[in-house]
Amino acid sequence: MGQIVASEKLLKAVASLNQLVDKHQLQEPEILQEAQQIIAELVAKDDWLPEEMAVPHPQFYRQYLLYGDPLDRFSLVSFVWGPGQKTPVHDHTVWGVIGMLRGAEQDQSYEWKDGLLRAVGEAKTLQPGDVACVSPTIGDIHQVSNVYDDRVSISIHLYGGNIGRINRSVFDAATGQRKPFVSGYSNEFVPNLWAAPAGA
Ligand code: FE
Repeated sequence: MGQIVASEKLLKAVASLNQLVDKHQLQEPEILQEAQQIIAELVAKDDWLPEEMAVPHPQFYRQYLLYGDPLDRFSLVSFVWGPGQKTPVHDHTVWGVIGMLRGAEQDQSYEWKDGLLRAVGEAKTLQPGDVACVSPTIGDIHQVSNVYDDRVSISIHLYGGNIGRINRSVFDAATGQRKPFVSGYSNEFVPNLWAAPAGA
C-alpha cells in the first residue's frame, strides 16, 4: 500500500480542532458548540475521505483513525458501516460529535440505572450533513446502526479523548449487563496530513 494522502479539508479540520482544544477556559457546552461547527463543515460535502478510510468489512463495522492528538485531547475517526451492521449498546465516557458523511445511520439513546437498560425517546436518523453529540453530561449511551441493508454508510466521529484506548462499556440489550470494552482502531496506516494533497 502506498501512502494515504489526506485532503486539505482534513488538515484544516485537524488544525481547527487543535486551536479549539488549546482554549483551556472552554467548558463542555462551548467545546461541543464549536466542535459541531467544525464537524458540520467537514461533512458538508463528501469529497475528501481517503478511500482507504472508507473500506467496509463484510462482518464488522470499521473504525479508522483519521487523526489522534498526541496529548489525547481528541481523536477523529471514520466509522464505516457495512450493509445492516450496528454497534452494541455502548457508552463513550468523553464528549463526542458525530457527523454523517455518506448514507444514513440510526441512533437510539439509552439510559442505564440500577443495572437496568432502557431506551430513551425515539431513534433518530442522521442524513448526510447532520451532526449529533454524546457525552456523560447530555446522554452517553446509545446504539447506532446503518439504516441501509444494501449499502455502506459512513460517519465521522470526533471524541474528547483517544477513543480507541479509553476503557468504556458495552451493555447487553436484553439483560442490561454491563461489560468493559476498549474499541481499538481498524487501520494499519493513518492518513498523511503532511504531504501535498493529491491533485494539488
Ligand atoms: Fe457511539
